[in-house]
Amino acid sequence: MPARRRPVERREECGELALHDRRVPYTLKRSSARRTLALSVSEAGAVTVNAPLRMAWHHIEAFLFKHAAWLVSRLERVQTPGFAWRDGAELPYLGGLRRLALQPEALPFVMPLGERLLVGGAPAGVPALVVDWYRQEARGLLQERLAQHADRLGGPLPRFRLSGAATRWGSLSPRGVVSLNWRLVKASWAEIDYVICHELAHLRVPNHSAAFWREVAALLPGYEAAKARLREHGRLYFQF
Ligand SMILES: [Zn+2]
Repeated sequence: MPARRRPVERREECGELALHDRRVPYTLKRSSARRTLALSVSEAGAVTVNAPLRMAWHHIEAFLFKHAAWLVSRLERVQTPGFAWRDGAELPYLGGLRRLALQPEALPFVMPLGERLLVGGAPAGVPALVVDWYRQEARGLLQERLAQHADRLGGPLPRFRLSGAATRWGSLSPRGVVSLNWRLVKASWAEIDYVICHELAHLRVPNHSAAFWREVAALLPGYEAAKARLREHGRLYFQF
């Protein structure tokens, strides 16, 4: 007599994963028919984790963290629509906006003028010119701000590197070099201060323990609002 097949048992729950400095909502689908773990990201950016019905959470969590870099890069591709480099486009800058003013007949140049950013040259060259301009601004502004905060700590000035990382705002190397993303100059000073103080706090506490967050709070009281804003605006700042 053939064994009667057991009905497939399923369970579904929703959760949120803290990856780097962002929160990623996901749906966990457990099924008695599954033997392995799988992770997928839909066209719309919905994250689904398929797992065996009774697998312990720490196995699932370890699997997710192992694939964190892949997940973040997939989400960025899905959620970051390309930037439209048209005349009048809004360029975020230090928490405000500048308007792109194209001058295709002119030779290549970039010049801020009041609320506008004048950019000369053929349209194809505009993105590179604007990004170069942002990087130049970022180099000066971020380095100076880092120096001001480090000064308050009383320690030596950490070395600074401008980064163009695809997913991170800042990092601290084992040799004590603070890397800050040039895209931070699109954010407000409060958000910039949060990232700088976050990295400076890592000089004392390398992990993200409660002691670490106490250190951040000591450097920047009320940092939570800036942290939340940065998370909320991250997609906008990473458009280009
Ligand atoms: Zn950190």
